[in-house]
Amino acid sequence: MNEPNAEHCHICGKDVSSGWFARIRSGSGWVLLCSPKCAMRYYDSVRPEQETRAQELAANEHPLRFLVNGELW
Ligand SMILES: [Zn+2]
Repeated sequence: MNEPNAEHCHICGKDVSSGWFARIRSGSGWVLLCSPKCAMRYYDSVRPEQETRAQELAANEHPLRFLVNGELW
Protein backbone atom coordinates (compact mmCIF):
# COMPACT_ATOMS: atom_id res chain seq x y z
CA MET A 1 0.00 0.00 0.00
CA ASN A 2 2.99 2.35 0.47
CA GLU A 3 4.31 2.09 -3.06
CA PRO A 4 5.24 5.57 -4.27
CA ASN A 5 3.87 4.85 -7.73
CA ALA A 6 0.58 3.37 -6.61
CA GLU A 7 -2.16 5.68 -7.80
CA HIS A 8 -4.88 4.89 -5.37
CA CYS A 9 -6.52 7.00 -2.69
CA HIS A 10 -4.71 6.47 0.60
CA ILE A 11 -8.00 6.41 2.50
CA CYS A 12 -10.60 4.63 0.39
CA GLY A 13 -8.39 2.91 -2.18
CA LYS A 14 -10.15 4.47 -5.15
CA ASP A 15 -8.18 4.52 -8.42
CA VAL A 16 -6.96 8.11 -8.84
CA SER A 17 -4.70 7.61 -11.86
CA SER A 18 -7.02 9.87 -13.88
CA GLY A 19 -7.05 12.61 -11.28
CA TRP A 20 -6.58 13.14 -7.57
CA PHE A 21 -7.68 15.82 -5.15
CA ALA A 22 -4.46 16.14 -3.19
CA ARG A 23 -0.96 14.74 -3.08
CA ILE A 24 0.84 14.94 0.23
CA ARG A 25 4.49 14.31 0.93
CA SER A 26 4.74 11.50 3.45
CA GLY A 27 8.08 10.08 4.48
CA SER A 28 9.82 8.76 1.36
CA GLY A 29 6.72 8.76 -0.82
CA TRP A 30 3.49 10.49 -1.60
CA VAL A 31 0.01 10.07 -0.25
CA LEU A 32 -2.77 10.51 -2.81
CA LEU A 33 -6.26 11.52 -1.81
CA CYS A 34 -9.30 11.41 -4.11
CA SER A 35 -11.55 13.97 -2.44
CA PRO A 36 -11.84 16.60 0.31
CA LYS A 37 -13.67 13.99 2.38
CA CYS A 38 -10.75 11.59 2.23
CA ALA A 39 -8.34 14.46 2.86
CA MET A 40 -10.15 15.29 6.08
CA ARG A 41 -10.14 11.66 7.12
CA TYR A 42 -6.42 11.55 6.41
CA TYR A 43 -5.72 14.63 8.51
CA ASP A 44 -7.96 13.30 11.25
CA SER A 45 -5.74 10.23 11.36
CA VAL A 46 -2.40 12.06 11.44
CA ARG A 47 -3.16 15.22 13.39
CA PRO A 48 -3.61 15.66 17.13
CA GLU A 49 -7.22 15.51 18.24
CA GLN A 50 -6.90 19.04 19.56
CA GLU A 51 -6.27 20.47 16.12
CA THR A 52 -9.10 18.47 14.57
CA ARG A 53 -11.45 20.01 17.11
CA ALA A 54 -10.14 23.47 16.25
CA GLN A 55 -10.89 22.77 12.59
CA GLU A 56 -14.42 21.68 13.41
CA LEU A 57 -15.02 24.82 15.42
CA ALA A 58 -13.60 26.97 12.63
CA ALA A 59 -15.73 25.14 10.05
CA ASN A 60 -18.86 25.81 12.06
CA GLU A 61 -18.07 29.48 12.39
CA HIS A 62 -16.80 30.06 8.86
CA PRO A 63 -17.75 27.38 6.31
CA LEU A 64 -15.08 28.61 3.88
CA ARG A 65 -12.38 28.08 6.49
CA PHE A 66 -12.56 24.40 5.60
CA LEU A 67 -11.06 25.18 2.19
CA VAL A 68 -8.44 27.43 3.74
CA ASN A 69 -7.34 24.60 5.97
CA GLY A 70 -7.32 22.43 2.85
CA GLU A 71 -4.38 24.51 1.64
CA LEU A 72 -2.18 23.08 4.38
CA TRP A 73 -0.40 20.82 1.90
ZN1 LIG B 1 -10.64 8.43 -1.27
